[in-house]
Amino acid sequence: MFRFLPAVILFASLRSACALTAADLDDEIQHTALDPAECYRVLDLNFNKEDVKVYLGSGYLVFSKPVQGMHLGAVFVANSEGGDADVLLLPPTRSERSSLATFTNSPNLEEHFKSAVFVFTDGTGDDLLAQLQNNPASKKSLEMGGLIAERWTQVLSNLITSFDARVVYDVLSAQRDNGMFYMAVSGNQLDNFDVLYDPTAQDQIVVGKLGYRDNRTYFNTWTAFQARSFRNGAAPHGIHYAWDNIRIEATIQPDLTMQAVTRATLTWRQPQPRSVVPFDLSPNMRITAATVDGRPAEVFDRQSLRSDLIQASNFSPDSDDRQFLLICNPPLDPAVPHEIEIHHAGAVVRDAGNQVYYVGARGTWYPRTGGGLTSYDLLFRYPKSLTVAATGTPVEDRIDGDWRITHVKTDVPIRFAGFNLGNFQSMVQEHNGYRIELYANHQLETALAPKSVPLSPLITDEPFRRRSPTDPLGASPAEPPDPAARMDHLTKNLLDALDFMTQEFGPSPIRNIAVTPIPGGFGQGFPGLVYLSTLAYVNPGQLPPRLRERAEETFYSELLETHEVAHQWWGNLVVPASYHDGWLIESLANYSALLLLERKKGVKALDDVLDDYRTHLLTKTATGRTLESAGPVIWGYRLESSLTPDAWRAITYEKGTWIIHMLRRRLGDDKFLALLREIASHHHSISTQEFRELAGQYAPKSPDPDLKIFFDNWVYGTGLPAVKLSYTWRGTKLSGTIAQRDVDDAFSAYVPVEVQTGSKSNVYWLAAGSDPAAFSIPLKVRPTRVVLVTADCLMTTSK
Ligand SMILES: [Zn+2]
Repeated sequence: MFRFLPAVILFASLRSACALTAADLDDEIQHTALDPAECYRVLDLNFNKEDVKVYLGSGYLVFSKPVQGMHLGAVFVANSEGGDADVLLLPPTRSERSSLATFTNSPNLEEHFKSAVFVFTDGTGDDLLAQLQNNPASKKSLEMGGLIAERWTQVLSNLITSFDARVVYDVLSAQRDNGMFYMAVSGNQLDNFDVLYDPTAQDQIVVGKLGYRDNRTYFNTWTAFQARSFRNGAAPHGIHYAWDNIRIEATIQPDLTMQAVTRATLTWRQPQPRSVVPFDLSPNMRITAATVDGRPAEVFDRQSLRSDLIQASNFSPDSDDRQFLLICNPPLDPAVPHEIEIHHAGAVVRDAGNQVYYVGARGTWYPRTGGGLTSYDLLFRYPKSLTVAATGTPVEDRIDGDWRITHVKTDVPIRFAGFNLGNFQSMVQEHNGYRIELYANHQLETALAPKSVPLSPLITDEPFRRRSPTDPLGASPAEPPDPAARMDHLTKNLLDALDFMTQEFGPSPIRNIAVTPIPGGFGQGFPGLVYLSTLAYVNPGQLPPRLRERAEETFYSELLETHEVAHQWWGNLVVPASYHDGWLIESLANYSALLLLERKKGVKALDDVLDDYRTHLLTKTATGRTLESAGPVIWGYRLESSLTPDAWRAITYEKGTWIIHMLRRRLGDDKFLALLREIASHHHSISTQEFRELAGQYAPKSPDPDLKIFFDNWVYGTGLPAVKLSYTWRGTKLSGTIAQRDVDDAFSAYVPVEVQTGSKSNVYWLAAGSDPAAFSIPLKVRPTRVVLVTADCLMTTSK
């Protein structure tokens, strides 16, 4: 059943093909050298890549020797005397200009430089060279070429290598339209920074710089946006293949290493000159062999540091995943589906001690590509003392000698599949058409045991802030805590959450949900599989004091488990259209959990959580500004820069949740819930823009009927105003002003004002302004109470 062909044989047989292999190509790319014979004296050479304008005033431009006929690199060096060059970029939106200003002190980029290194796979190098060769006035300089080549070849080679997988992919797939343009600039004021134009990215233009903090490397995105032609309607470069029908057979050995075969169907949507497919995979996994339609295929597997970092800054907080390429030679027939088989092995399961295990690379333990919805068939073979829980409905579960075999299949197509394993105790509950499997450990992991080392920080995708333990030497209780103490309680909460969300948003198409423990203070909601902090299983009172606060925070009003259940709707049923829209999914999941909390414990419980979020968003960072001011919620992981490492979490979860709450108060409960239900039942993917347009259809009549102002301020902008209300009542009307501070003049939020007359109460959303904004409300009765409703708006009151 498990066939592992030795990789050596597979790769050896490749050599017989006469076609170019990725390995050979990579070898050429690694040895890219500048060509002194292609050194030109340049004078006023201008070119642009969409919004990026480059002006080479006076200096020398040296090209690299061609690789497969393409000039992949060049170096510009200004004349030592009076030479000059600059790069110019005007971001198209206010928030992008403010982002650039945060990092460079200027809303526009206009930087003079003395040298720059270029990497291009889009043909820019060939075009520039042809332009210079065909210009009788341009002069070659062999002497300068020699000097520059000697000094800069290594720099160029290092930079090209840092884009390794991408450059190999572009050259092999031979489509210049999809190629990239990159320049590393040594600016006069801004030091070294990166400019990237990549037509296959969501934001085709990215400018930024590597930053370091606390032994961690960040790519600080100064600005990233859609390039001009895409803003003007050019179709984005989509993925031109379908990847479906994924079947994984995995063996997990007693030492927790895994050997797996992933099979899938690949269908090319249009003819391609070469068939190359990129995949993401955990760096702890390696590919041992691959075949296409039964024939050996080449796998190119190499980490590309710079492209990984730039990608990671926008898409995920985990820059660990690596890209590899599967090269199908000869190119695949687009008329028929093809069977791909990838053999991979590695250690993605870790041991947290006391027989508590966890899956480190939860999203990339198998090769991932395409990002579409697919069916999964997963078969695990593992030591019989353990239990595997995985995405899908059980098909088979049996013991075979020392092994246990668990086979699951998905009922509906999903985005990705996960698994968890452990020495579990479990209970299964059928409920209103759902089947819940709840798993708990038999022991606590070492880090939670009474006497232990402190918890190491973990990457989490959840809204629970990390605090350093306040009492590291706290006394330990005599009894070890029970790792399944809250199992009954958890089951009840999970069923309540499923009932509540089914009732409000419609049934989840995924009916089998496994809930499993994971060490650390976080959770994650995969399709049909929830990872829940081991802390959520323990009674907080049983933990050592140093962990109690953290546990209580994790339990915080029981939000964690309901947040994760809500991801079956927000995140698995409805997915974000791009990284800009990730906040929406997290905020909807979190707010769904808060709605249930409010239903169970009353509005005060909801307001307390929101109040805590507001306080946190207002804390000052090392820059002296509030955490909230790091950037708009739509920036996603970009918010996590070396300037504000904590901003992504706070802004995505806390401000995002506030945005949903304010929207609810603007629409009213019935309209708000109808909006969520419509999204859950009709939208598979949703962008922030689509969300605004839909919400606008439910919005009441107001000066902001389509919610443009609301979104401009809260979603696309930053600012948390302090607001002051002044009013008088004279016989027939209530009039007054609302003044705001701590936000810039362009901020024009509407704030809720409650006017009470006797037993009647009305809420008016009124404009605030930096010059106090006047209002007037017809009112024949003297009001008994006129107040700003700070519980319904992300503001504070100022005296
Ligand atoms: Zn979440």
